[in-house]
Amino acid sequence: MPISLYNSLTRRTEPFAPLDPERVTMYVCGPTVYSYVHIGNARGPVVFDVLAKLLRRHYPHLVYARNITDVEDKINAAALEQGVSIETITGKFTEAYREDMAELGIAPPDVEPCATEHIGPIIVMIERLIADGHAYAAEGHVLFDVDSYPDYGKLSGRDTEEMIAGARVEVAPYKKNPADFVLWKPSTPEQPGWDSPWGRGRPGWHIECSAMSATHLGETIDIHAGGVDLLFPHHENEIAQSTCAHGGKTFARWWLHNGMLTFDGRKMSKSLGNVLQLHEMLKHHPAEALRLRLMSGHYRQPLDWSDAAIAQSVSTLDGWYRVLRDLADIDLDAARLPIPGQIEAALCDDLNTPQALAELAVLADAARQHGTPEAKAALLGGGALLGLLQQDPEAWFKQAGGAAVDAAQVEALLEERQAARAARDFARADAIRAELAAMGVVIEDGAQGTRWSVTKA
Ligand SMILES: [Zn+2]
Repeated sequence: MPISLYNSLTRRTEPFAPLDPERVTMYVCGPTVYSYVHIGNARGPVVFDVLAKLLRRHYPHLVYARNITDVEDKINAAALEQGVSIETITGKFTEAYREDMAELGIAPPDVEPCATEHIGPIIVMIERLIADGHAYAAEGHVLFDVDSYPDYGKLSGRDTEEMIAGARVEVAPYKKNPADFVLWKPSTPEQPGWDSPWGRGRPGWHIECSAMSATHLGETIDIHAGGVDLLFPHHENEIAQSTCAHGGKTFARWWLHNGMLTFDGRKMSKSLGNVLQLHEMLKHHPAEALRLRLMSGHYRQPLDWSDAAIAQSVSTLDGWYRVLRDLADIDLDAARLPIPGQIEAALCDDLNTPQALAELAVLADAARQHGTPEAKAALLGGGALLGLLQQDPEAWFKQAGGAAVDAAQVEALLEERQAARAARDFARADAIRAELAAMGVVIEDGAQGTRWSVTKA
């Protein structure tokens, strides 16, 4: 089944064909580790995790790199504000990021390069750009000369005038053209810095990704991905630097961009006070429901986020896990699950996750109706490709929000209720039921005894 992907550079959906099927390369721009990330920052990692899973089925030798930006002015500002070292900030938030990604069921990338460990390759790349007339040193800074690269603006479709008007470029006296961007800048003694031919300083953000991508994946890579907010200037600048440093070679063959999250129809922003930290949300909602919601729209479109939408994802998963719980007696080899063709076909079509989820719902219905090992295997296999339905159904029903309730306490109350019922003390049995309800525990009496679950939203 061929994979087609929309390429932001050509503005077309194209059949995906890697340069070398024996070594497929993908780079996704990772976080700047100065705080917890917001829920919108999790959309790309979830979507590109599904893409990595799909690519690995077709090309077992995928090398997927997602970087950690651990030198950046926001980090310096956070360290200063909190009165701690820069390493304290980057260490804490790198660890938190890894934990939060793992909770969302996102497999770690094959390579997770940190900018501070690539200062050598960054300096070499800048030296090459200067030698070839694409960059110049001025007042302790090194700037990329955008006029030296005629294709500058091709990815974003902007001309230089628009870029300057967009006010995202800093006008500075040492720049030849206001659109020229920083490759290297001087550091004060308190700021992190490294010795370089241009004095003690630190890299600009854009050059970090270019150098890390080349170091780990090579000069030309198959896929470069990130949020659409990175398209300009970050990705535009990455293309300019990498192409010019590598003698005009194509940098990335496919550019993929995920759309942004809106919150109840509005943009998420610090000034609106509606920034939702992923770390915080994971304490209050099941991680899998957040993952499902992040995949529920097509990745290129904006996605609206609301409490009602999370509740709907919880209820969808409740329904699917109920089917799996009812079929718990059917043993399957988790390592040999079939991948249903209709789910793979949806993902091969430019990662159409909403269609894949609709197909998963059809498989869940079939498993509910037929209850066969094949039907259960198809549901689990489809879930695996999407990173869903991989936990024990009992565990799903026993977690409240992001955390599990005290199962031992619930079981003890259920036993006490059973004893009260046996003794025909219905008042006591009802009181225990009410106590459980107050804990969010719902009980169902059935032929196989009493089952319990926790309401989550
Ligand atoms: Zn990047």
